[in-house]
Amino acid sequence: MHLTIGWLYPKLMSTYGDRGNVICLERRCQWRNLDVSILPLDQDTDIESFAKFDVIVGGGAQDRQQEIVMRDLQGEKARIIKEKINAGIPGVFTCGSPQLLGKYYEPALGQKIDGLGILDLVTKHPGQNVPRCIGNVAFDIVAEPLRKDLEEMLGESPTVIGFENHGGRTYLGDVSPLGKVVSGYGNNGEDGFEGAFYHNAIATYAHGPLLPKNPFLADWLIIKSIEHKYQEKIILTPLDDSLAEQGRKTMLKRISG
Ligand code: GLN
Repeated sequence: MHLTIGWLYPKLMSTYGDRGNVICLERRCQWRNLDVSILPLDQDTDIESFAKFDVIVGGGAQDRQQEIVMRDLQGEKARIIKEKINAGIPGVFTCGSPQLLGKYYEPALGQKIDGLGILDLVTKHPGQNVPRCIGNVAFDIVAEPLRKDLEEMLGESPTVIGFENHGGRTYLGDVSPLGKVVSGYGNNGEDGFEGAFYHNAIATYAHGPLLPKNPFLADWLIIKSIEHKYQEKIILTPLDDSLAEQGRKTMLKRISG
C-alpha cells in the first residue's frame, strides 16, 4: 500500500505551523510500515501530478498569501480539488484553507477573494481594529459519520483541542459544522460552531498542529484514505499515544479552568 499526501501551497500556507499535520500523517503511516510520500500542490506542480494525492492537507495563511494562492488555484487545479473532495478523498484544512474552500473570503484589506465554492460557507474579516480570535480552542465533534467512526475506533468521540488565530469570521450555509465549541471562539464567536465537515473533508480553525494533539483524527484520515484508494476496510496497528494523551489531559484541564 502507498499513500500520497497532497500538501496545499506549503511555502504560502504554513504560517501557523500546520506543517505538523503533514509530518504527523507521514510518521503515523511510517510507524505502521505504510509507504507514504508527500506531494506539494502549488504553483510549480504540473496538472498531471496535481491529481495524484490520496489525502490532502491545507494549512493557514495570512490574508495576502491567501490572495496569492487563489490567483493560482484556478481552472484545472480548482476542478481537480473539487472533484476529488466531492468523490470522498479525505482531507484536513485549517483556517485559511477552509476559507478558500468556501464561497468567498472578505479580508480585512483589499478585494473579496472568491473561493472554490466546495464548502457552503463564507468568511468575513470585521476589520483590523477588531480583535482577532486567538487562544486555545476545544470542541466536541458533531459531524457524522466522523463522530460515529471515532466512537467505533475509540469507544468515544474525544473532545478536540487546538489553538486558533484568525481575524475572519466564518458563517456556515448548507454544510455540517465539524463541532460544537466547548471553549474558545470557533467559526465566529457567535453561533457556537467550529469548522465544517463535508464528505471526508475536515475544515477547522484549530491549529496546534491539530493532528499531533488529536492523533485519532490522523488515524481516521489514514483509514479513510486507504478505504477510498483500495476499497477495503483496515484496522490500524495501535500506537503508543501516551505522550499526546498526557498533553491533551493537561490542555483540557487548563481550558476547563
Ligand atoms: N488570514 C486568515 C484570517 O485572519 C486566516 C488565518 C489563519 O490561517 N490562521 O482569518
